[in-house]
Amino acid sequence: MLSDFHVHTRFSGDSEADPEAILDHAVSMGMRHICFTDHHDFDYQYETDFNLPAEAYWSYMPELRDRRAGQIAVSIGVETGLEVPMGSRLHTFVAEHPYDFVIGSCHLLNGIDPYYPDFWQDKTDREALELYFSIIRATLDTCRDFDVYGHLDYIIRYSPNGIQNYNPSDYLEQAEDILKTLIAEGKGIELNTGGMYKGSVFPNPHPLFLKRYRELGGEIITVGADAHKPDLVGYGFQQAAEYLKEAGFRYYCIFKERKPIFLPL
Ligand SMILES: [Zn+2]
Ligand SMILES: [Zn+2]
Repeated sequence: MLSDFHVHTRFSGDSEADPEAILDHAVSMGMRHICFTDHHDFDYQYETDFNLPAEAYWSYMPELRDRRAGQIAVSIGVETGLEVPMGSRLHTFVAEHPYDFVIGSCHLLNGIDPYYPDFWQDKTDREALELYFSIIRATLDTCRDFDVYGHLDYIIRYSPNGIQNYNPSDYLEQAEDILKTLIAEGKGIELNTGGMYKGSVFPNPHPLFLKRYRELGGEIITVGADAHKPDLVGYGFQQAAEYLKEAGFRYYCIFKERKPIFLPL
């Protein structure tokens, strides 16, 4: 069983999951490592509060990690929402606590969450995806304090036209630019199975991008189910391992103290 390095708990604005229940489920699946990656997004304008209560998180998580150490290795991470103007604020935020692992994700496009249908109303899917990839590329110039890029290409999950018309090769040039930049900076990506639970036939990023990342020399890749409930931890991981092998990976990564550790697939 692969280690799950993208998990949300009640410390995220959109989850009520008990961290203990998450660890119980992970142990029952035979998982050896897990990393909590609760949300932190600055200035999220909708009803949910996505600011991580970092003091409460850090007064709770280390005790849990130490108490469960005989059963499962726990890493303490965060999923930060990257936006072009947020680079220095994120740097300060991440430096305040000794995170093991930081996912950088794009959740807002010029302040708009593509989760909501409004975002899609005045554009084609192609325009929406091109905007998404171009904004990601721009955030890489200002936001540097993360270890892997989260769920690349996930916004297609929210297209009102569904994922069946998604043609990742339309965006290959933009994705390659992003992947090359990440590789050059010593950063990685994740394989995220969260959409597969909701019916997608492929993980994010699409296998085409996984393969291209490996061909370009990318080695650092974590695996995460993006679970917001205990029973979704490790969801789709058998398929995830197959996708990784098909893309040419022989190892995947976990992180400790912001350093990747390579484990065989
Ligand atoms: Zn996310
Ligand atoms: Zn997430």
